[in-house]
Amino acid sequence: MTSTVEIAPESAASFVEKAPLERYVAPEKPSLIGLTRKQLGAVLGAVGVPEAQRKMRVQQLWHWIYFRGFTEFDAMTSVSKELRATLTANFTLERPEVVAEQISVDGTRKWLVRLPGETQGERPHEVETVYIPDSERGTLCVSSQVGCTLTCSFCHTGTQRLVRNLTAGEIVGQVMVARDRLGDWPGGTRPTDGIVPSGDNRCVTNVVMMGMGEPLYNLDAVRDALLIVSDGDGIGISKRRITLSTSGVVPNIERAGAEIGCMLAVSLHAVRDELRNQLVPLNRKYPIAALLEACRNYPGASNAKRITFEYVMLKGVNDSIEDAKALVRLLKGIPAKINLIPFNPWPGSKYECSDWEQIEKFSAVVFDAGYASPVRTPRGRDIFAACGQLKSATEKLSARERMALRAMAMTD
Ligand code: SAH
Ligand code: SF4
Repeated sequence: MTSTVEIAPESAASFVEKAPLERYVAPEKPSLIGLTRKQLGAVLGAVGVPEAQRKMRVQQLWHWIYFRGFTEFDAMTSVSKELRATLTANFTLERPEVVAEQISVDGTRKWLVRLPGETQGERPHEVETVYIPDSERGTLCVSSQVGCTLTCSFCHTGTQRLVRNLTAGEIVGQVMVARDRLGDWPGGTRPTDGIVPSGDNRCVTNVVMMGMGEPLYNLDAVRDALLIVSDGDGIGISKRRITLSTSGVVPNIERAGAEIGCMLAVSLHAVRDELRNQLVPLNRKYPIAALLEACRNYPGASNAKRITFEYVMLKGVNDSIEDAKALVRLLKGIPAKINLIPFNPWPGSKYECSDWEQIEKFSAVVFDAGYASPVRTPRGRDIFAACGQLKSATEKLSARERMALRAMAMTD
């Protein structure tokens, strides 16, 4: 069965989504990770916790799970022995399985995370979670789907056949796995191999939904997960330090603002509909004008809380000075930041990364229009070097580099 989305007449006529979504099938003994407080209360009710106690029990569990990072119910000393045994018999606190870890010379870490497929025995799915540290902060790039139903022509994820929405537990689970690995829970031991933020800074200070998938096509799970990540009684990463990147699912932008309230990044990449239709086919359904209108109305957007516009630099495609001028004209009146992202090639991709000189010229136009540091020059140069070298790199390495690149650009 193929799923087509509802299509508005004319301009949207040729926009068809790619693959049917596969279902998530919960294990017999499910993990409690990713449940909202309300859902956790209901689960406690189902195993016999009286209504009058539930709120207090939820609060206790929340603390152990999300503040302390515990993985066993049995170690939760404030919870009665009886309830601990009941919970152990019925549930787990399992996070997604990490099957590989790579640490690169600049401290970037990539975890390959394995997720179950719909059919037993079928090859499991894999997504990547990437950690990019510097001296003061650590940014975690998190995936929201296995693959992506959209087919942006410059994006490797868009070429993947299989798609499954991640559950809220699998999304929060990526943050928890990272904190497990980095010793980032109270009393934990930080790794000595590779850079982590200094002193009292936590290892994971920022989260960007810029891994695999379109987060606004999995909004409910992404919302539940990000509300858990930002909950002050638990992981407690401020919503100002959480950024959701979308290719432009217009009807869900307002919902994301109202229901999550995190920072927004929009993958613009082109200033004309004709070109954006090719680069980001979703544009045929939600053209630039509609997208920018949704940005203007994004709840909470202000000069202190700007929307980031991402612009991937594609040689000879969208990188002319005219494009740069049109870009700043287009964004006039929107509280915006601009991130120029050097294109990261992948095997079989049909684009090239713009020449560095061209990126600088483009960047100068954007800078002169009042946007600070649209491309990170020092690190940008490193990455640009990597861009060319990646042609010979393995697919996996290129995926890591790509994600690291995006996430770095985000937290500039
Ligand atoms: N689906 C969402 C979030 C994931 S992609 C979105 O499209 O926004 C995160 C960012 O990486 C997007 O801006 C995307 O356009 C960009 N991107 C994808 N492939 C890239 C590549 N090969 N090189 C550079 N940026 C890329
Ligand atoms: Fe999907 Fe984003 Fe890649 Fe487009 S750029 S195919 S929306 S992951």
